[in-house]
Amino acid sequence: MEKKRIYLSCPTMHGEEQKFIKEAFDTNWVAPLGPNVNAFEKEMAAYTGAAHASALSAGTAAIHLALRILGVGEGDVVFAPSLTFSATCNPIVYEKATPVFIDSEPDTWNMSPEALKRAFEKYPDPKAVVVVHLYGTPAKLSEIMEICREHNVPLVEDAAESLSSTYKGKHTGTFGKIGIYSFNGNKIITTSGGGMLVSDDEEITKQATFLATQARDPARYYQHSQIGYNYRMSNITAGIGRGQLLHLEEHKALKKKIYQQYKEAFADIPELSMNPLNPEGDANCWLSCALIKEGCSVTPDMVMDALAAENIESRPIWKPMHLQPVFEKYDFITADGTNNSIAADIFNRGLCLPSDIKNTEDDMKLIISTVRRCFNK
Ligand SMILES: *Cc1c(COP(=O)(O)O)cnc(C)c1O
Repeated sequence: MEKKRIYLSCPTMHGEEQKFIKEAFDTNWVAPLGPNVNAFEKEMAAYTGAAHASALSAGTAAIHLALRILGVGEGDVVFAPSLTFSATCNPIVYEKATPVFIDSEPDTWNMSPEALKRAFEKYPDPKAVVVVHLYGTPAKLSEIMEICREHNVPLVEDAAESLSSTYKGKHTGTFGKIGIYSFNGNKIITTSGGGMLVSDDEEITKQATFLATQARDPARYYQHSQIGYNYRMSNITAGIGRGQLLHLEEHKALKKKIYQQYKEAFADIPELSMNPLNPEGDANCWLSCALIKEGCSVTPDMVMDALAAENIESRPIWKPMHLQPVFEKYDFITADGTNNSIAADIFNRGLCLPSDIKNTEDDMKLIISTVRRCFNK
C-alpha cells in the first residue's frame, strides 16, 4: 500500500470561505470588484494595522505595482536580498531596472544590514530597497530602516511569507513605505492565488488599484494616460480570503507549535539546528527549516531522500538569486566584501521541513524519527 503523503504546506479550508463565495454567487458579484474585495481590504488593513490596502491577483503583482508606484524604471538600481524566492526580484527586471543582491546575516537569514551599508557605498542612489521576512522570520528591521532613512530611499516589505508575524509588536508589512502579502496556495492563508498591497499612504493604495484595473482615466470613455495591468483580485477570491482571515491566528499558533516540536525533538542532535528566530519579533513559522552543522557528513539531500522514501514532502532552501542563471550577471554584496556568502552557505546546509498544519501527531512522529535516523539517533 502506498504510504500516506505528508505535505510541506498546503491549503487548510474551514467552511466559512464557502459562505462568502455563495454570497458572491447569490448576488452575482462574480467580478474583479464587489463587496468581498472591499471588505477583504478593510479586514486586512484592520488585522495588520496598515491604514490602507489594495487587493490584487498575486503577491508578485503587488511587488510589481509597488516598484511602479515608487517610479522604478530603466537604469535604476534596486537592492533586494539574494536569499529569497525569485518573485521578489522578477518585477525589478519587468521594469528594466537593475537588481543588486544583498547577502544574508546568520541571525535571521534575512538581508544583512552590514551588507546593505556596503551596497550603499558602492551604489549611493538606489531607487528602492526590498526586504523579505524569510520563512516568516522578521528581518532586522530597525537597522535596515535606519540605513534607508539615512539615504532617503523607500523600503518595500515583501511580507509574502510573514503575514501575522510581528516585529517589536507591529505587523511585518507595515514598516516600509509599501508592504505586500501573498495568498498563494502554500502560504499561511490562501485564496488559491492572490495578493495585497498595503500602505499608510492612501494615495499609494489608490494608485495600486488604478494601475491594477488597466489605468483608466476618470473619463466617460476609455482613456489611458499610463500603462495599466489586469492585476485586481476577484470578488470570489476575496471571499475565500475573508473566510481564511478568520483563522489566521489559529494557523499561526499551529505553525509555531510545529516549529517548537521540531526544536525539542532535535535538541540532542548537535549537528542539527532549527532556523533562527528574531528575538525582537514573533514569527509565524510559515516553514520550519533545519540547518546541518558545517563539516557534518549528513547532507540536506540525504535527509530529503530519507523523507521522500516515507512519502514525506520537504524542500531545499531557496536557491540564492546571485547563483541563479537568470540573475548571475547582477552584482552581489556581502558584509565583509569577500565571496563568502552566508546565503549560499544556508542554501548548502539547510532544508525546509514539512510544516503543514493538518499534519497529525503521528505524521510529526514519523517525520521526526526519519530525520533523527539520518543522524543515527
Ligand atoms: C510567495 C512569494 C511571493 C509571490 O507571491 P505570489 O502570490 O505567489 O505571486 C513573493 N515573495 C516571496 C518571498 C514569496 O514567498
